[in-house]
Amino acid sequence: MASPPREARARAAQLREELARHNYLYYVLDAPAVTDAEYDLLMRELLELEERFPTLRTKDSPTQRVGAVGTTPFRKVRHRTPMRSLQNAVSEAEVQQFRRRLEVALGQAPDLLAELKMDGLAVSLTYNLGELVQAATRGDGETGEEITANVRTIPGIPVRFEVESDGVAERLEIRGEVYMPKAVLAELNRGRSAQGLELHSNCRNAAAGSLRQLDPEVTRARGLAAYFYACDPPPSGVVTQHQLLDWLEARGFPVNANRQLLAGGEGVMELLASWQGRRAELPYEIDGVVLKVDSLQWQGELGSDSRAPRWAVAYKFPPEERETRVLTIEVSIGRTGAATPVAVLEPVEVAGSTVSHVTLHNEDQVRRKDVRVGDTVVVRKAGDVIPEVVRVELERRPPDSQRFEMPTSCPACGAPLVREAGEVVTRCLNPLCPAQRLATLLHFVSRDALNIDRLGPAILQELLGRGLISSPADLFRLTPEQLQELPGLARKSARQLTDALNARRRPKLGAFLYALGIPHVGRRTAELLAEHFGTLPRLVAAGPDELAAISGVGPVLAAAITSYLSSDGTRTLLAQLAEVGVDPQAESSGGGPWRGRTVVVTGTLPGFTRAEAEGAIRGLGGSAASSVSRKTTAVVAGEGAGSKLAAAQRLGVPVLDAGQFRRWLDHPEEGPESL
Ligand code: NAD
Repeated sequence: MASPPREARARAAQLREELARHNYLYYVLDAPAVTDAEYDLLMRELLELEERFPTLRTKDSPTQRVGAVGTTPFRKVRHRTPMRSLQNAVSEAEVQQFRRRLEVALGQAPDLLAELKMDGLAVSLTYNLGELVQAATRGDGETGEEITANVRTIPGIPVRFEVESDGVAERLEIRGEVYMPKAVLAELNRGRSAQGLELHSNCRNAAAGSLRQLDPEVTRARGLAAYFYACDPPPSGVVTQHQLLDWLEARGFPVNANRQLLAGGEGVMELLASWQGRRAELPYEIDGVVLKVDSLQWQGELGSDSRAPRWAVAYKFPPEERETRVLTIEVSIGRTGAATPVAVLEPVEVAGSTVSHVTLHNEDQVRRKDVRVGDTVVVRKAGDVIPEVVRVELERRPPDSQRFEMPTSCPACGAPLVREAGEVVTRCLNPLCPAQRLATLLHFVSRDALNIDRLGPAILQELLGRGLISSPADLFRLTPEQLQELPGLARKSARQLTDALNARRRPKLGAFLYALGIPHVGRRTAELLAEHFGTLPRLVAAGPDELAAISGVGPVLAAAITSYLSSDGTRTLLAQLAEVGVDPQAESSGGGPWRGRTVVVTGTLPGFTRAEAEGAIRGLGGSAASSVSRKTTAVVAGEGAGSKLAAAQRLGVPVLDAGQFRRWLDHPEEGPESL
């Protein structure tokens, strides 16, 4: 065998080192320095070199290994069978090659099951006689990190399932992907942006960071979800991958409904193209489609190499990143007066829509990314439909590029723009600033709020300009005659608009709270508040301690909410809205005999996991909180209860043991009402 030339050896060593560094940044720190597509290019280059010169293929080459584990505080656990990666295909030709290889090996074209490739992180759950005993990350494929307490906080993951007469092995490993829905990432990033924190670059990194938290309560608040797709060993009687997914589903495991069985693998290219086109519509991120040989027997016969099974391939979508040029950087004024730099781009098509404006969040972010007018930038859509600048192509920076300077006065009203010491946000402090009013109104009628899509920025601006409206309540006083006066609004449209407004006079409480634009309260927090309090007066009457006791709220947010709700401006707005007949309705899903009651579970309760006990409380309409305050209805204390029990005793909050709690659950009508 010809020994590899010196340049090939040097390049391979360089690639190995570079890939190992990126693995560490990506898998251990959840902070990649390059995009997945760039990483994949480096990996392919190394694979090709090793193919040409097999002696370059060292055992520790990143091409032969999976993931990485670093020094982390989590206990290490060994997987019973390795958690492998997947071979990938980036073109039609590579998918067809995979099919040909299968056909040669098996003597016929096998049925393939197409599953979506969730962009999250793999977990392995160990069940002992149907009881969740351990959860672990993939780690380096052989050894992962133990994250049981965190996984228990993810709604929908069964902590127990029925095993009787199931032909199920005593000890099972059930594997799948934990992910963060796009809407959750968008909300998390909104909060981080407001606090001047670095944003999570995508759902995968945010999910990985959220799952590997030392405090499970932080994980709980992050809104993670999961889909499962493997079980080792497979239950008896289950002979195909699609039956395996049905089996998991029947036992309460969340399984992605988007799965297709392709007889003989026919129609695979159409299916891949169709998912590529519909990818943006999904509420979670996928980075491809996984094609798996359906027969479990054939899977076994095909086996795996050190890195990936031979019976599956991940078709990876081409990256949804595009290059474009920054034409200018404008400053837009939001509803709280925040001045946000926005890059105006040469319009470019990204993931199915044209992007011409992209937020740069705040002055510090512009500096950090060093975006200048005239730069060529790479843009993509992250997590949500919101596009972002990934990076600047520095080598293509023109000599006359211009740095961004935050203006000293508001572009809408001319008032001075102020950045307080220690704050990341620069603001226009003029409460009468027309841009702030417009932004408030736009938020109020936006899709997740009152959802009045006929009221776009042009109409609102016109109404503001004519002095017909100034607050959201004024919208409900508009008459068809007034609207008809606006340019371009015919009599019929004016009538439709007032009809649409009238139809929204009884919004759901969650949507209404979101519409108010309470600082840092996104749609999810608004729902949490609506679920917990049920009615607006109850929320308005709540103190910061009660708010802070809600799982997922915390003291900082609680203080922001109470300060907003008790301000004169808010009280006036709520009174005006009530006057025009806007009457938020209790959320029906959150109903139940324990509505408005907060119960804290602490210690170990025999017969319940923490998640089950809290799930039962929520199921009855109550709230399961993580800390005790004077407003807590009761504390359920199990074995080993410590500081929360002490707090309850100090504050005079009723304490129940497991038996009393169980009796409550059996007789929910007595429940907290009996206290
Ligand atoms: P992978 O993500 O390409 O595929 C394997 C993984 O897919 C599995 O481990 C599983 O977690 C997941 N998966 C999702 N849905 C699945 C389904 N339905 N069935 C089976 N598995 C499913 O491989 P990998 O080894 O996890 O990661 C390698 C990839 O990660 C690279 O190709 C690159 O895209 C990215 N990466 C990027 C960087 C970076 O610096 N940007 C660094 C390392 C890795």
